[in-house]
Amino acid sequence: MPRKRELTFWERIYLPEVVRGVWITSLHFFRNLALHAAHRVGLFKKSPAAVTYQYPEQPRPLPSRFRSRHRLTVREEGTPRCVGCMLCETVCPAKCITIVAGEHPDPNVEKYPVRFDIDLGVCVYCGYCVEVCPEDAIRMDTNILDVAAYSRDAMKLDIHELMNPKLRKPVAQCTLKFPHQCALHGGSMRGDWESVYGKGNRKD
Ligand code: SF4
Ligand code: SF4
Repeated sequence: MPRKRELTFWERIYLPEVVRGVWITSLHFFRNLALHAAHRVGLFKKSPAAVTYQYPEQPRPLPSRFRSRHRLTVREEGTPRCVGCMLCETVCPAKCITIVAGEHPDPNVEKYPVRFDIDLGVCVYCGYCVEVCPEDAIRMDTNILDVAAYSRDAMKLDIHELMNPKLRKPVAQCTLKFPHQCALHGGSMRGDWESVYGKGNRKD
């Protein structure tokens, strides 16, 4: 085991280190002040100055590959693109995806998610669910980072919030137009395929 290094006399009296710290901070302060002033008049544009983002009013720009909160992509008629293949649920290393698949009325689409939940309190943001999806039905491109909540339950996203990332809990009203198991509303079924596909297309 390496022994702890003995402090020198000057390190033990702290004062030179304090002066050194203030010197470095002042150097950065005056450098940035001068550069920001110069940028205002169009000078030294190639020398970047430090930038402070006034979060949360001014969010920091994120790289295009950044993995943020999930969303489910939707078809033109407003139903989820997800075909309930369960690949994302299977590959998820945190086991935080829950899908209940149902029969889709369109014969060209095998299944759809009756229920789709992601527990963000457990998710490790690995992005495997996005990579494995054969339908481009799930993405992590909402740029939503503020997912803090007061309870573990509030960290669970259901199909409403996944299809509409602007929704925040509590979701007061269910507006989905297809049959699904609504976790927030006591597990009752709401919506109907007929309003989306017409009566004749319903496969019972
Ligand atoms: S990002 Fe990773 S941990 Fe989170 S839901 Fe997707 S597969 Fe699971
Ligand atoms: S989101 Fe994609 S991978 Fe997951 S069940 Fe739906 S279609 Fe399959």
